Amino acid sequence: MYHGLLRTASFWEFLFTVDERLAEDAREAGCPCGGPLHRANYPRQPRGGCANLPEAYGHRLSFCCARDGCRKRTTPPSVRFLGRKVFLGAVVVLVAAMQQGPSPRRVRELSELFGVDRRTIGRWRVFWREHFPLTSFWKVARGRFVSLAIADLPRALFEAFIHSFDSREDWQRLLVFLSPITTTGGLLSEGKS
Ligand SMILES: [Zn+2]
Repeated sequence: MYHGLLRTASFWEFLFTVDERLAEDAREAGCPCGGPLHRANYPRQPRGGCANLPEAYGHRLSFCCARDGCRKRTTPPSVRFLGRKVFLGAVVVLVAAMQQGPSPRRVRELSELFGVDRRTIGRWRVFWREHFPLTSFWKVARGRFVSLAIADLPRALFEAFIHSFDSREDWQRLLVFLSPITTTGGLLSEGKS
């Protein structure tokens, strides 16, 4: 059951609590100008996940500076949304990782389950192999994965973090690790799929 966890609402509820903590850290840090941050969430309509996705998935947590003349937006890192990609981050990682695995049947099953078409999977492959390795995040983080080949992304990362398909803590570690790339400026070029 490599996908079972991602089909349960409690997993997505859990990830939302992680996002709330990341958002609280950002709010406490405040705006770079010194002004206080007020809630200014973005509406989102994510795909993938499960049938009864929690209501909190209708928005991405975000803030605006309350100081006149600044009003700068601060969007904290997220373990739910991978930048502007429509599909939830964990789905983008799982399907792309399985696509590099030995079982085409698994990929077909997952695609049907999460409603991902072939073109989207193709774009994700380009993202992981061409865009992700160019991010400033990866240039620093790859030091932890000395023997990792770009061609093995994201599967090599998936295998480095996910030791049990049922472990939401494994998923949390992987998604928190990747979360710097989910913010504006975290990616050099950001796909929309
Ligand atoms: Zn400000």
